[in-house]
Amino acid sequence: MSELADKYPIIPDMQEGLEVIWFNPNIKPPQASTLTAADIEDARQRLERFAPYIEKVFPETAGNQGMIESPLKHIPRMKAALEDYYQKELEGRLLLKCDSHLPISGSIKARGGIYEVLYFAEKIALESGGLTMADDYSVLASEKYKQLFSHYSVSVGSTGNLGLSIGIMSAKLGFKVTVHMSADARQWKKDLLRKKGVTVIEYEADYEKAVEEGRKQANQDPNCHFIDDENSQTLFLGYAVAAKRVEHQLKKQGITVDAEHPLFVYLPCGVGGGPGGVAYGLKQIYGEHVHCFFAEPVQAPCMLLGVMTGLQNKISVQDIGLSGQTAADGLAVGRASGFVGEVVGNQLDGLFTVIDNRLFQLLSLLAKEESIEIEPSAAAGFPGFFLTQQNLDYYNRFGQQIMKNSTHIIWATGGSMVPQDEMKGYLDKGNELNNKNSSN
Ligand SMILES: *Cc1c(COP(=O)(O)O)cnc(C)c1O
Repeated sequence: MSELADKYPIIPDMQEGLEVIWFNPNIKPPQASTLTAADIEDARQRLERFAPYIEKVFPETAGNQGMIESPLKHIPRMKAALEDYYQKELEGRLLLKCDSHLPISGSIKARGGIYEVLYFAEKIALESGGLTMADDYSVLASEKYKQLFSHYSVSVGSTGNLGLSIGIMSAKLGFKVTVHMSADARQWKKDLLRKKGVTVIEYEADYEKAVEEGRKQANQDPNCHFIDDENSQTLFLGYAVAAKRVEHQLKKQGITVDAEHPLFVYLPCGVGGGPGGVAYGLKQIYGEHVHCFFAEPVQAPCMLLGVMTGLQNKISVQDIGLSGQTAADGLAVGRASGFVGEVVGNQLDGLFTVIDNRLFQLLSLLAKEESIEIEPSAAAGFPGFFLTQQNLDYYNRFGQQIMKNSTHIIWATGGSMVPQDEMKGYLDKGNELNNKNSSN
């Protein structure tokens, strides 16, 4: 590992648990890959076919005609608070993509996770339920289809939001669904899933073990579909559709994206499917005019390590002596998806890390300034807005005039399902840290 440290001078800092940013020296334009713009469009159309069904079974989506989508909000007060927090004037327009408030499961997993369950359901309904693609899919809410789906099962290994999304959607359709959870999963998530009729199997061992066990059980049952967070292209495409929705939202708000008006997007990264899918979709649309950064906890920078070294999933954060542990649910991942690293790693402008305490500080600032409550992982993108302007080499690639015209999207990935008392704990912790800081 000392060879790696020689070659990549930020590794010693990472090993000490310091915050780092890595700017990708070999950024590449979107290239031909196994996934194309046509695949993303296919996924978008599938979600459109399902919209009448979603609207029927999840009435909270009615305002959006059954589309599972979140607002893209201007947060000028938070921008001012960040200038104060970082003691620096910051250029550009700051927006929050509120996937923290996506309907059904309150996190970015309501994109990929739900999409993959719908994909599986459609396949069964077309092959053996007499459904045609031209039908109104709200028929899938009928007893006939629930009966059909009850002969099939869905299974996933997850400690959190993916389990919630897949559990809730699968149970609603009528699938038998099992979520394999490691010992560290939060009690409220297990309780909520069980209430919805999901089988939750708990393991003493860690997350990797739970996934492995889930996969093994699923393989023994030909009618069981195992959702593979690390390798699934279906999941990835579900996330990628978000880019088309953002394109539409930006247009509607009159925001241009081009060489004179670049777009910066900061995405919290766990195993990589969520941020990877979104970034992949955005690069397909905006090419070199969109600049994507991934954010990870200082103890779990698996994608940074994999992409920077080119070793992808052949290296884990434990290999450089980090714990992989963090208060940021969903980001406590030691080894990134190799598939995602290969497909989008070289299209990223960079990756950076954040200490846990800062996540609490930022989420409580956001609650105070904008009355938007998000979970710790979802705050990981904020430092990017500062870091891209603090680093002069990077900033000068654009210059002040263009930076003034730039738009920055912080992708808030989760939060609205967090129980009130838990959220209060997060906010109190952040407030306390902020007060301590300002009194120094
Ligand atoms: C899962 C998750 C992420 C990261 O998504 P990956 O696909 O694991 O990279 C970020 N934030 C929250 C809240 C999540 O649940």
